[in-house]
Amino acid sequence: MNSFRKISVVVPCFNEEEGLKTFNETLLQFLPRNYDYEIIYINDGSSDNTFQEIKALADYNPQIKYISFSRNFGHQNALKAGYDYASGDCAISLDADLQHPPAVIPELIAKWEQGFEIVNTIRHDHQSISLAKKISSGLFYRIMKKLSDVNIENGMADFRLVDKKVLKELKRFQENYLFFRGIIPWMGFKQTTVDFTASERFAGTTKYTFRKMLKFATTGVTAFSVKPLRISIYLGSVIALLSFIYGLYAIYIHFFTNQAVAGWTSVIISVLFVGGINLLMLGIIGEYLGKLFIENKRRPNYLISETNIDA
Ligand code: UDP
Ligand code: MG
Repeated sequence: MNSFRKISVVVPCFNEEEGLKTFNETLLQFLPRNYDYEIIYINDGSSDNTFQEIKALADYNPQIKYISFSRNFGHQNALKAGYDYASGDCAISLDADLQHPPAVIPELIAKWEQGFEIVNTIRHDHQSISLAKKISSGLFYRIMKKLSDVNIENGMADFRLVDKKVLKELKRFQENYLFFRGIIPWMGFKQTTVDFTASERFAGTTKYTFRKMLKFATTGVTAFSVKPLRISIYLGSVIALLSFIYGLYAIYIHFFTNQAVAGWTSVIISVLFVGGINLLMLGIIGEYLGKLFIENKRRPNYLISETNIDA
């Protein structure tokens, strides 16, 4: 045994068979030699040969660990599993598609050595990233920041380093709707950020479909604040005020003019409008209620079908 400090690298993988080998090589190339390390690959219910690829890597290198889920539990839960099982003095999480360049890892470690307990990264998009992705991610952070009470920075990625102390605390988080980008800034500790440029996906396609992103964004907001519930108060007041003014106008027409033809159009429009607002607000309340229902069951965040890590 050596007395080097140990770095855990946490890599969630979902259908990444094509790029995994290259990823692993690149990662090893940038892990500083003067540290002990372990790499934990989390197979998040891949339907391709990702798990076979991971096992092949692990056969060859005993410092490579794996956790294979019983089905797809999503990126954030895969990250949680990695954090739960990491045994290093710090843990670095990054994507398996080389969009989080392993070349930045030495910089993260340097910050950690300076005494920072959480090193976040901010992504600056590469020219070639699709316009749709650029717009959707810009919108995501803007809405997030407006609607939640969390100080999340534009472009904050799930590429970060956390100290052992932070890992210990992260294990206590039992919530089902995980949103690390919100939890991490909330945690405090000595934090800093490092910038990086996202490269193009090395192989395979994005696993964040529009639906998944929408789900993720809703969780990001509703898991962190009840501000959206407040929208109903504001909207309700504005509509009440407008109705009052319109009521005055209707009374005026009725008593002081002779054009009092019952305005069917305006009636139907206001009925539909108020009905729509009602449904919207019920939807928001339902979203929170549903989350309460799920959280209340205290189900585990993930189920493991196979691993080579001793509990
Ligand atoms: N991922 C996962 N489970 C999922 C979706 C994604 O473990 O359900 C992993 C994926 O393999 C990758 C990382 O999360 O390592 C980020 O996914 P992706 O690169 O598809 O997202 P994008 O970079 O397009 O936002
Ligand atoms: Mg990616």
